[in-house]
Amino acid sequence: MIHYAPDLLGARASCWSAGVPARIEREARTVMKTKLVLAILVTLLLMTATFSTRADKLPFAADLIIINAKIHTMDQGQPLAEAVAVAGNRIVAVGSTKEIRKLAGANTRLIDAKGQLVLPGFNDAHVHFMSGGFQLSSVDLRDANSQQEFAERIRAFADKLPPGRWITGGDWDHERWPDAKLPDKELIDRFTPNTPVFVNRLDGHMALANSLALKLANVTRQTLDPPGGVIVRDPTTGEPTGVLKDAAQSFVWKVFPAPSFEEKLAAARAATNHAASVGVTSVQDMSAGADVGVYQALLDRGELKNRIYAVWPLPRWERLAQTGVRAHFGSAMLRTGGLKGFADGSLGSTTALFYEPYKDAPSTSGIGTDEMFPEGAMLERVRGADRAGLQVIIHAIGDRANDIILSIYEQVENENGDRDRRFRIEHAQHLRAQDISRFARDKVIASMQPYHAIDDGRWAEKRIGHERAKTTYAFRSLLDSGATLAFGTDWTVAPLDPMLTIYAAVTRRTLDGKHPNGWIPEQKISVEEAVRAYTVGSAFAEFQEKEKGTITPDKRADLVILSRDIFKIDPKEIDKVKVVMTIMDGRVVYESGR
Ligand SMILES: [Zn+2]
Repeated sequence: MIHYAPDLLGARASCWSAGVPARIEREARTVMKTKLVLAILVTLLLMTATFSTRADKLPFAADLIIINAKIHTMDQGQPLAEAVAVAGNRIVAVGSTKEIRKLAGANTRLIDAKGQLVLPGFNDAHVHFMSGGFQLSSVDLRDANSQQEFAERIRAFADKLPPGRWITGGDWDHERWPDAKLPDKELIDRFTPNTPVFVNRLDGHMALANSLALKLANVTRQTLDPPGGVIVRDPTTGEPTGVLKDAAQSFVWKVFPAPSFEEKLAAARAATNHAASVGVTSVQDMSAGADVGVYQALLDRGELKNRIYAVWPLPRWERLAQTGVRAHFGSAMLRTGGLKGFADGSLGSTTALFYEPYKDAPSTSGIGTDEMFPEGAMLERVRGADRAGLQVIIHAIGDRANDIILSIYEQVENENGDRDRRFRIEHAQHLRAQDISRFARDKVIASMQPYHAIDDGRWAEKRIGHERAKTTYAFRSLLDSGATLAFGTDWTVAPLDPMLTIYAAVTRRTLDGKHPNGWIPEQKISVEEAVRAYTVGSAFAEFQEKEKGTITPDKRADLVILSRDIFKIDPKEIDKVKVVMTIMDGRVVYESGR
């Protein structure tokens, strides 16, 4: 059965009625009385018409058609199909190869998928888009395997930059180097006399500055270590080596110039190109703040390859409310109206807020962020933002932080009354068993990043023990309770590649290989469920389920073709699957050299 876009069918029926002999129409009306049957007749007439030699001149010849595909539409009305037709930026028909092929005109791009899997474009519900872009456009030191390689990469990168432009990022790891010795400024000074360098270790807890950066930051032999920070020094001369640990890094960040608009534009361009290459057609940027103008400039230049939901900081909700903007304001390409707050810290830094103390740090059970103080401040902000019609999105990791935010949401819903508000909790990482069902009951979206589970899963039990771990990243329990899951990555904290997210949700195999059958395997979910959370779920989380998330006629044409069928292969192989083609808004925005 071929499924057409209802709008287009209506438009075609009316523009064709003039061409259909009146007699046929009269006869049809007499013989077949119901509207339904008439609609079928019109459809059949139209399909016959597309065979005519004028097919290429018809207003509804498709612009792009994918045939011979294995399409998982995520639309429960028609879950599987072979072919899809796109006109402009919309999907216009979904059906068999034979049926859809008929919609081709002279100018239609016909893509033979040769049996490959087609899915709706992925919608990453939680990214930090600009920092991702800056990371991509900076020097990559992550896999430099020696001090020489480290220095050489910085030299090559500096050569391409105008004098005075900073080099940051890097993500080096001296544990990979033969003697695991920390780098020092002498390694890079001679290559970078006019280029300030401040490149960080991959955990962000230390960074190497060159002499120029130290000079700009006024860090000398006389500078004292700040509280919570260390200036690493030469043991004989006392001269700073360039490595600054933890709080000492702020000496340099204080003099680091804010990036220019052009630099931000370049970062956003790098980010959108990367998103296209991994099949991500929508992102929800949790730290967009003032970057909306950068995205708009990219959109105006025709360079934006993914849709963006640009989320603001919750503490600044009044400024957004005063503009009159309400939840999901904007176009299908660029929207705003969401506010992101923070309830607590992270498990890695033992700042996620729990009811019980940490096993490996018994003096603490985590802390609330400054947004939680004074008592009642968070409630007041959520109440005000919700009353203004904005969407509230709050980061909560520890079980206590999750309980507190769920309770705030419940209270605000009671006070402000019923409406389609779609409160969200980001991460929802550690939940008490009794809190799991509250997500479904209170219609709170659990926006989760499965890759964190296979990353943190290496050491999480050391920190919180086995009992609490059982309801950690509780995908299965949340789905079974009827909650809506929205998947994403938290890029740059985790890679943007959706295949890694799906692999993580389905296998729960930790990165250290120590849980081959999955860490807390009872919380695994199916490939189908993971893809649904990454498409339908994340579209719902940003009020866009009518526009995207499934391959359905009349929805936006966001599609991805994958190199292998993730529903069929061994789930252990999913992380190696590649994107063959990404289509966003009807445009091919990425094509691998297949
Ligand atoms: Zn985040």
